[in-house]
Amino acid sequence: MIDSWKESLDELYSQMVEWRRDFHMNPELSFEEVRTPQKIADYLSNLGIEVKTGVGGRGVVGIIRGGKPGRTIALRADFDALPIQDEKNVPYKSTVPGVMHACGHDGHTATLLGVAKILSENREYLHGNVVLLHQHAEEKAPGGAIAMVEDGALDGVDVVFGTHLMANAPYGTYSYRKGPMMAAVDAFVITIQGRGGHGSAPHETVDAIAIGTQVVNQLQHIVARQINPLRPAVVSVGSFHAGGAPNVIADTAEITGTVRTFDPEVRDRIENEMKTIVQGICAAFHATCEVEYSRGYPALVNHDKETDVFVEVMSKQVGEEKLVNIEPIMGSEDFGYFIQNKPGMFFFTSAGNEEIGACYPHHHPKFDFDERAMILAGQALLSITHHYLCEQPSKDENFDEHADIELMTT
Ligand code: MN
Repeated sequence: MIDSWKESLDELYSQMVEWRRDFHMNPELSFEEVRTPQKIADYLSNLGIEVKTGVGGRGVVGIIRGGKPGRTIALRADFDALPIQDEKNVPYKSTVPGVMHACGHDGHTATLLGVAKILSENREYLHGNVVLLHQHAEEKAPGGAIAMVEDGALDGVDVVFGTHLMANAPYGTYSYRKGPMMAAVDAFVITIQGRGGHGSAPHETVDAIAIGTQVVNQLQHIVARQINPLRPAVVSVGSFHAGGAPNVIADTAEITGTVRTFDPEVRDRIENEMKTIVQGICAAFHATCEVEYSRGYPALVNHDKETDVFVEVMSKQVGEEKLVNIEPIMGSEDFGYFIQNKPGMFFFTSAGNEEIGACYPHHHPKFDFDERAMILAGQALLSITHHYLCEQPSKDENFDEHADIELMTT
């Protein structure tokens, strides 16, 4: 049956391109999405799929109930855009000044709509249910995923899968990693309060710039000297603002930056060391300070068993040579929240193609992807769903036949 699903997906390609380009031309920023979730909800409702809107704020959850009892698989696609001016020269360029789908979330959404259509048309063959997680606000902390989870989007779900189009790699492969695949992300703002004064009389001042430079230097020593070198960590200062005139000693300095880790203990340690260092330096030089440390997304840690399922299923579908086992990356994704709560995994679908100009990094003003990758992403999601709901409907020892899923319809 998977072959007929794949054929149906091929037939849907031009429709998926149309959806993707419509979303691309009408991008919406994180936590400001209105039109996009409405379009998704309308489309799913027209297919006869039960839909709940406003999940965790602006998320849309659809449920396709299979004809037979079985497990429930959730599939996730995010739908927000970025505050970037679209500089591509294509007919489907963004029509909203300063807002652009520069990460491919338009493609994720179009893909999941295509997958939803095929699964809803085949619902009688499904042993179990499919939950469609259309997620808002992936690009901006605290993100939409955690709010959707807290709002019950994963209630009754047994496994959850998601994919991200990846234009950095040429179209035609998938990449994945078992265990930690993407880093946790935190942000910090350090404010140093000195005492400003005349540039000619440093002894009467507390120089926020001189102290701030010590802080920036010593922050580098956290990773270099406090963290086990076998545990990846990044502490990067991204901005330093202080002063305004050549003959004035700065009263205050503000330093901001990002922290990336995988290990929760390393994450705690960095936060603590940062506070100790900043407070110590400021005390030594008679300044006061404030360290605001905000936790962002957790590390994205793929579950072993579900990663094995992905590899097994996709090896059969496309061949092992199309699956790339990657190194962990220090970038972040709030899909991590879903698999903190339920077993599951996240993989990348390669979507780069220099010939059509899809060769820019994600979040670049000229970012684009090879739209055929939506077929590959969709094939993978269908194949995984087929595995759980058609091939092995009751082989999972953890499967609870009585698990039921409740979803209000709107
Ligand atoms: Mn993204």
